[in-house]
Amino acid sequence: MSDSCIFCRIARGEIPARMAYEGDDVVAFHDIDPKAPVHILVIPRRHIPSVNALEPGDAEGVGRLYLVAQELAKSTGVAESGYRLVMNTGPDAGQSVDHIHLHLLAGRSLHWPPG
Ligand code: 5GP
Ligand code: ZN
Repeated sequence: MSDSCIFCRIARGEIPARMAYEGDDVVAFHDIDPKAPVHILVIPRRHIPSVNALEPGDAEGVGRLYLVAQELAKSTGVAESGYRLVMNTGPDAGQSVDHIHLHLLAGRSLHWPPG
């Protein structure tokens, strides 16, 4: 939990967001600046700054992010058309919020490799 972290504050309901899922350990909300027709961020409630900070005990929690993303892909209707799950880490990947978040991107053909 961090008072200065924007995603901690969204998870606590202190900053408004268009929520897509709210569970005990995981929340998901629509990206404020969507890069695709479906762009949802799936985060743990617990503050973890980046993949670099993950510990063995986080394995189940990180797995839950993927299960929530799977559900959201179904509920937004993109499970069959396809989607991309991305967790940017560090400056070269463009990580701009230091609280891990899984991007669920879908609803259009996504370029590969990414830029
Ligand atoms: P990153 O660049 O760290 O991989 O992804 C951060 C994402 O968070 C960006 O896509 C950005 O648009 C989104 N974002 C940043 N601040 C907010 C916010 O206050 N609310 C929401 N819903 N999304 C945010
Ligand atoms: Zn945080």
